Amino acid sequence: MSHQVLARKWRPKNFDTLVGQENTVQALINALDQERLHHAYLFTGTRGVGKTTLARILAKSLNCEKGISSKPCGECSSCLAVDKGNFVDLIEVDAASNTKVDEMRELLENSQYAPTSGRFKVYIIDEVHMLSNSAFNAMLKTLEEPPEHIKFILATTDPEKVPVTVLSRCLQFNLKQMVIEKISSHLDMILTEEKIKYEKKALGLIAKSAKGSMRDALSILDQAIAYSGNEISEQKISEMLGIVDNDFLTNILYKLADNKGDELIKISCEMNNKNIALDSTLDDLARLIHEVSVYQVAPSKSQGFLDDDEIKKLSKLYTAETLQLLYQIVINGKKDIYLAPDLLTGFNTTLLRMLAFFPSMQSEKIESKIPERKIESTSKASLEKKNSQAQIKGELKDPQEFDGDWHELVKNLKLGIANSLAQECEFKTYQNYIFELTLDSNKSHLMQENYIKKLEESIINHFNKKIKVKILVDQVKETPAIKSSDEKSKLLKETESAMMKDGFVKDLIENFDAQVVPTSIEPINNKGK
Ligand SMILES: [Zn+2]
Repeated sequence: MSHQVLARKWRPKNFDTLVGQENTVQALINALDQERLHHAYLFTGTRGVGKTTLARILAKSLNCEKGISSKPCGECSSCLAVDKGNFVDLIEVDAASNTKVDEMRELLENSQYAPTSGRFKVYIIDEVHMLSNSAFNAMLKTLEEPPEHIKFILATTDPEKVPVTVLSRCLQFNLKQMVIEKISSHLDMILTEEKIKYEKKALGLIAKSAKGSMRDALSILDQAIAYSGNEISEQKISEMLGIVDNDFLTNILYKLADNKGDELIKISCEMNNKNIALDSTLDDLARLIHEVSVYQVAPSKSQGFLDDDEIKKLSKLYTAETLQLLYQIVINGKKDIYLAPDLLTGFNTTLLRMLAFFPSMQSEKIESKIPERKIESTSKASLEKKNSQAQIKGELKDPQEFDGDWHELVKNLKLGIANSLAQECEFKTYQNYIFELTLDSNKSHLMQENYIKKLEESIINHFNKKIKVKILVDQVKETPAIKSSDEKSKLLKETESAMMKDGFVKDLIENFDAQVVPTSIEPINNKGK
């Protein structure tokens, strides 16, 4: 089979066919169409996410003979030359190769001359962080006083190594890693166009092993086509990549739930006999555990590489806390597996650790161990107490007088649609039957006549007096909304610190390098608010 390398053949030639990076693409489209052009752009992101592809499309958009546009014609000689890689005014430099670094100065010295055939001379400098200091200095000079006809498009995987002086002169875009679904559906499209048969699950495997890089995904796909012949099947791809069959992974979680240590060891030996890469299997296991956890809170967000039924079954076997711990153990296992005498030993140890922790986690039902719930109950009790006090206060208080406590008042008003307005207002003064309130400018959308009227009405009803409400837009410090979010975060902090002090959790942290993700803890009485 002779065919052009897929990554090259399917390299997107315009913004429409580019996969992912929607935010960056939209920003560039707007800039081009409104001709709000910057003289230096910086694309950052891990390898294979589309930095140079974007740079080339941008270069083409800037130089299309039909005019600057987000939709370069693709037919004029400039567009064609950019696509072929021989456009004279597009200078591509790979800063990672040393010889070229020395050429930088010379290149930049030439930049003062007008472009030969295009509108702009475009310099694409890939892996720009690799430039030498003198090369950066040379570039900086041009960046400080850029001639009209120059555009820089810089790309790097490591923006932290780019001098701030350069960064500050660039419009920066952070490109995201591609998600598995996007990669997989792109592969799907390519294979359909190429008329190559495939199993959908095989594409999922390729997408997963590409780790967010479309370029890697396409090169694995190239190998897969060569390896598989007529049809790209899940089995062939698993073989080729040495990836573990999902059945092994789900089986591990089933046997663990059954507390069957011997079966777990049997599974890992079988995997080892099949030459499955046990180290990367830990990645897959972590991913599976993650998927089950996600399913527990958001069933619709399942990534769909396992049958929903399977995920559902697994999600019922484990508590959320156990899944968090198992995940942590697996992630640690990834570190330890290379220190182990061999991969099988390392892998087995991880399984045994999971087993060692699992029964205690499940059977002793952490409620009794983690004081989280105690805090929940005390804080709940104190909150209830507070509420009842408020009720008493409300009953005893003369409803005819305003005591200056706006927060309390807001709680007692029947606000209806005016609630969000009242929550965001800060109390200023109450004089001559006029409530003066302030509203932050970023909440000024709440300043609607019907809201204000409703607020006024509810105050009038409450005090049984003809009262007016005046709202000014100004900075606010303490609104009911701010106060309640402060209270919530205080409560959360208390819960967190108590949880961290708990012996059981401490043990995990110390002996297992387990980590409690602080924001994952939430007192129950805040749930649903
Ligand atoms: Zn064109």
